[in-house]
Amino acid sequence: MDYVIDSWNLPSLAVEGAAGRFPVRRIYCVGRNYAEHAREMGNDPNREPPFFFMKPADAIVADGANVPYPPATANLHHEVELVAAIGTDGAEIAPETATDHIYGYAVGLDLTRRDLQQISKDRRWPWDTGKSFDFGAPCGDIAPAARIGHPSSGAITLDIDGERRQSGDLADMIWSVPEIVGHLSRLFTLRAGDLIYTGTPAGVGPVLPGQRLDGSIEGVGKLSVSVGDSV
Ligand code: MN
Repeated sequence: MDYVIDSWNLPSLAVEGAAGRFPVRRIYCVGRNYAEHAREMGNDPNREPPFFFMKPADAIVADGANVPYPPATANLHHEVELVAAIGTDGAEIAPETATDHIYGYAVGLDLTRRDLQQISKDRRWPWDTGKSFDFGAPCGDIAPAARIGHPSSGAITLDIDGERRQSGDLADMIWSVPEIVGHLSRLFTLRAGDLIYTGTPAGVGPVLPGQRLDGSIEGVGKLSVSVGDSV
């Protein structure tokens, strides 16, 4: 293919036990999906319909890599999340058949410029500047569902420099992964290669340059990234 400017590589993730990689198409994220986190952000944890935002596919950062501290913020926050990787296209997917569309799972970080997100909330602006920045979507290797199944419970944790900051259980999600796939696929046709970040448990907080983040989800895997100096 000839392009009039330089092209770029398709963003992709390693897959455990496979030589091939998982190509990343779109990144969807769910807001407020654990009651304790909804409360810590000052919101009602009652079961309102899930809501969604997006990040660009090239915001992916691989396991073991460095995340440059992003510009225009003084309050970068960590949010450790289960990531579901879509392997089969689908629209208006019933929750009962949702797992048929999931290739695998990973540990992800929904990095957030919390100060910019707060300005957006106050002014009723979109969240893009707070959520959809470069290097804002670290994601570990994909664990195929064919090997690990479809986790609905298990500890989810985030440590900074070895100190536990976030702790929860997948069983405490307000909306389960199959329910999220059901809602999301009524809004968008899900496509193979899409990632869904499924929300974070309580304990979000600031990350500083030079710190190391270690995320873990029982039965899924791990993700480690370091945070570097400003871009
Ligand atoms: Mn999040």
